[in-house]
Amino acid sequence: MRLRHFEYVPKCSVAGCDHPAAYKIAAPWSDGSARELKNYGVCCVEHRDHELAAARKRREGLRLAEGETVGPVGLYKLTPGSLDSQLAKVGEGKS
Ligand SMILES: [Zn+2]
Repeated sequence: MRLRHFEYVPKCSVAGCDHPAAYKIAAPWSDGSARELKNYGVCCVEHRDHELAAARKRREGLRLAEGETVGPVGLYKLTPGSLDSQLAKVGEGKS
């Protein structure tokens, strides 16, 4: 296992896939005061559509606590070294 302190590129979370992840699948989450991205995994370009569909299924089964809100699951371009809040949302049908 190689560890680097910077320029760490996560791998696609699909089992058996060795490609570097290009996207983060996430949904904007809030409990009324705090806001963050709820992470549904990372994926390569090839598995993007598959993983997005799987994440949306998981999102449908999610139970929210009182006061919690979760926005639609979307794709965010993964940029090494960027914070979640700095990731750019990727429009569907475009890449
Ligand atoms: Zn993959």
